[in-house]
Amino acid sequence: MNAHDSEKVIGTLVGQGYSQVATPEEAELVFYNTCSIRDKAEQKVFHRLQQFKKDHQGKTFAVLGCVAQQEGEKIFEKAPHVSLVCGSASYNQLPQLLVQLEAGNRRVTGLSLDTEETFETPFARRDNPHRAYLTIIEGCDKSCAYCVVPFTRGPERSRTSASVIAESAELSRAGYTEIQLLGQNVNSYRDPSPAGWDFATLLDNVGRVPGIRRVRFTTSHPRDFRKEIIDAIDRNPVLCNHVHLPVQSGSTRVLKAMQRLYTREEYMHRIAWMKAAERPIAITTDIIVGFPGETLDDLDATLGLLDEVGYDSIFSFKYSRRPNTPALALDDQIPEEEKTRRLAVVQEHQRAIQIQRNAAYVDTVEECLVEGFNKATGQWIGRTSQHKTLNFLRPASDADLTGQYLDVRVTRAGPNSLAGEAVN
Ligand code: SF4
Repeated sequence: MNAHDSEKVIGTLVGQGYSQVATPEEAELVFYNTCSIRDKAEQKVFHRLQQFKKDHQGKTFAVLGCVAQQEGEKIFEKAPHVSLVCGSASYNQLPQLLVQLEAGNRRVTGLSLDTEETFETPFARRDNPHRAYLTIIEGCDKSCAYCVVPFTRGPERSRTSASVIAESAELSRAGYTEIQLLGQNVNSYRDPSPAGWDFATLLDNVGRVPGIRRVRFTTSHPRDFRKEIIDAIDRNPVLCNHVHLPVQSGSTRVLKAMQRLYTREEYMHRIAWMKAAERPIAITTDIIVGFPGETLDDLDATLGLLDEVGYDSIFSFKYSRRPNTPALALDDQIPEEEKTRRLAVVQEHQRAIQIQRNAAYVDTVEECLVEGFNKATGQWIGRTSQHKTLNFLRPASDADLTGQYLDVRVTRAGPNSLAGEAVN
């Protein structure tokens, strides 16, 4: 989401007559987009801002994103060389803020969360020539006890279905073949126009835009995950057979403390829909270990859930205390070393599952979108519909295959990727 916000901010700046340069050295104005999801990421921001000051005297600096929203005007105290602070809910104000900056104003802010608008730009400077991100909903109306997002990105705002379909068609005309729909809770999408489409209807229709060969979406919330989404994937082969459904914990007790709004059983009900799908769906998730009060039995419940679902991969994190979150006040914080130990246990457990799951792909033929070439290994890098990395050889060809769709026979499997040979 942050990466795509940066693409849209660059598009806005280019639309205002600025040009993008390759390095900070060449820039007069430096925009720094930030993340505050974990404490470590936030610490890095202030360290980097000090570094900017030392290395880039005389330039104008702007701080964007969640740290900008969270710290607000305090950023001017901690880093007086910064001139603009703007959170993501105010990005649609950027053209006006730039005017103030150009008029010589040394302290410009865009920090309001009181917005019903999404950040739409006529032009986004996309980095990848084949896969495009497309935001359909911004903000979050949930209140998970550990999360800063509702505070830093504001309430949910959905774009109209007509504007999403129009942008998808424009992307197809520009040569993109894969679209990734984005939102903090992408499946909470609700079309604000009279058409009133839900997420499954929008997904299906983006997958029917001529020229688009793959559609993905991230990130879904289990509470709002409906069976219609799986029905759409079954109906429409353009929709990738991969679902990322963050569970966070396998213990209903911890899920309640996290204010996640579902039980383990309700989550598993959604997994059962995926397992019953006609095309095998790859399932991935996010796990937080060491949430305040998590017992060893709770951790065992999470390990058991990993086995029961058989995830294709997971993103796992240690719980990180964040300002302005309900979990900050909870007793029974888990010591850092114990969180580190639990994280290692979860990752080791999952590694064995991935080895087993990936081994099942050996001797199958998978369609890959070619993402690039690895000079060190002499292999092409491909991505399957199930979002697996498939590195492959294609002898007797020195043409650039990037952006093409090729069939690849899988010959080997590791915990994190597959390897094979192109068959066409
Ligand atoms: S659903 Fe929960 S974890 Fe996801 S962005 Fe909203 S508050 Fe954060």
